[in-house]
Amino acid sequence: MPTPTCHCGAVRIEAERAPDALNECLCSICRRYGVRWAYYRTAELRLPEPQATQTYEWGRRMIAFHRCPTCGCVSHWTSNDPARDKVGVNARLFDPDDLVGVPVHQSDGPP
Ligand SMILES: [Zn+2]
Repeated sequence: MPTPTCHCGAVRIEAERAPDALNECLCSICRRYGVRWAYYRTAELRLPEPQATQTYEWGRRMIAFHRCPTCGCVSHWTSNDPARDKVGVNARLFDPDDLVGVPVHQSDGPP
């Protein structure tokens, strides 16, 4: 089971499967973060407790970007719309062995 983890180890996510594909989003914030997103349904993940991360929202505030307050790694985003069952996990936090053979795509818009 992949367990993407921030650098200091305080923020840890458990995913029940390897990602199907990674999205290297080139929108204004993702290209600055340098992230690649692996998308999941909420039920496929065990996410950190809300108080374990700090969040950043901008623009229309459709999603919240979570980061570790200690080491600063961006770990995931969650939707502010409860009807949207989608979470983006920063694939840069995965063990590279869990991503062998997973294709990487690029997009230039928000997820
Ligand atoms: Zn950390």
